[in-house]
Amino acid sequence: MSFTKLGLSKPLLDALAQAKYSEPTPIQRQAIPTVLTGRDLLGIAQTGTGKTAAFVLPSLDRLAADRPNLKPGQVRMLVLAPTRELAAQIAASARTYGTFMKLSVGVIFGGVPNGKSVREVSRGVDILVATPGRLLDLVDQRALSLRELEILVLDEADQMLDLGFIHALKRIVALVPAKRQTLFFSATMPKSIKELADRYLTNPAEVSVTPAATTVDRISQTVTMVNQAEKTALLAQYLQSQPVERALVFSRTKHGADKIVRQLEAAGIGSGAIHGNKSQPQRERAIAAFKTGEIKVLIATDIAARGIDIPGVSHVVNFDLPDVPEQYVHRIGRTARAGADGIAIAFCSPDERGNLKDIERTTRQKIATAPLPADFNAAAEAFKRLKPAPKAQPAQARPPMKGDRRAVKSTGGERRQNRNDGQQRHQQRADGHAGHRPEGTQRKRPFRGRRGRPSGTRAA
Ligand code: AMP
Repeated sequence: MSFTKLGLSKPLLDALAQAKYSEPTPIQRQAIPTVLTGRDLLGIAQTGTGKTAAFVLPSLDRLAADRPNLKPGQVRMLVLAPTRELAAQIAASARTYGTFMKLSVGVIFGGVPNGKSVREVSRGVDILVATPGRLLDLVDQRALSLRELEILVLDEADQMLDLGFIHALKRIVALVPAKRQTLFFSATMPKSIKELADRYLTNPAEVSVTPAATTVDRISQTVTMVNQAEKTALLAQYLQSQPVERALVFSRTKHGADKIVRQLEAAGIGSGAIHGNKSQPQRERAIAAFKTGEIKVLIATDIAARGIDIPGVSHVVNFDLPDVPEQYVHRIGRTARAGADGIAIAFCSPDERGNLKDIERTTRQKIATAPLPADFNAAAEAFKRLKPAPKAQPAQARPPMKGDRRAVKSTGGERRQNRNDGQQRHQQRADGHAGHRPEGTQRKRPFRGRRGRPSGTRAA
């Protein structure tokens, strides 16, 4: 089946041809005709399925059908995404798909000067991709208005809830018109997400693409039983003895990810880490180095890795086993993309045996056990004697700049955004060891945004 059958306009078909997309992915086939009719959609799909094009392509056509003169701060379509990386990626995709259309695309997220975000929306935008905290900051500053919104997209809703964006989402939905089209995507559909979806959607069509079993089948999976303290030694030995092209290593915590980088460095293995405590440029540098092959090991937390499209991952390492079994499927799905065979290895400490059982129950397959290498004890002893590189200083907050709202005052919205989007300055100051909690499991704090609705942002 080709894209021409889906009812998309010529400018979009030309852009797709230019991007060398020859045929739609399953979610695109299911979603595009429905979204074109204006109907709400509930999509169960993860990154890598082509879901961005599934909601962006038909929306571009709907927005192009009627083009009002944009007022300052007006937004016609809002795409909410949990992380900066995902927001930036969606905006880049929207620009690619809209190459031959005259629709504007803006993107705003925390961690960049406020003035830059304000400029993105100052003349009004057809499509705005945003993380929830920064969006609310701009609403509070009356820099943008959602009163004339036509299409609302919530992407990676499960991740947004995990990141504590529920209050922000509720506030945002109260600001948009009741008459709108809503597209709701989540990789998983637990009860809490279903309830959220029910609240925001009206008679939605449902589409679902679960990771194909065949994908998982194509991945060679093993698990090795090892003490937690010796996992990095095992990782180092594996990386040094196996033909690893590009390994994505999942760590439960941000602190753990940094520690792995330091220990690998001591063993002469270059690696990088991406997680919520890294600044945006640091994360971008690490991902770029991994993509170019400058480093062959990237340590990531689930949240940081989410939404980033990294081609050519030969190995996925579950350094820590995830608490949520579906996450294991998502992680290993990072390898074996585009028809390639992948290798997934997992390290299971005695404490994680329960997690392993849950994973095997979910995937309905027993993961083969790979024994520790014969010379592991000696290697682990030698590894212990290596002196890890000193702790890097945490990313310094840059001094406030003129025109930067942070220099004036900080709102609850901004605090949440900074924590969730990765700067974590306030949190670090507050507890001194921000990195030990699994990323995304934040300490509950009362919602401290402005009470009530600021005037000028009334719900329609
Ligand atoms: P997504 O799941 O939206 O993050 O997309 C994953 C990757 O697939 C991105 O790099 C897209 O550019 C690519 N992609 C999306 N749809 C297609 C398609 N129909 N044909 C080829 N590549 C695609």
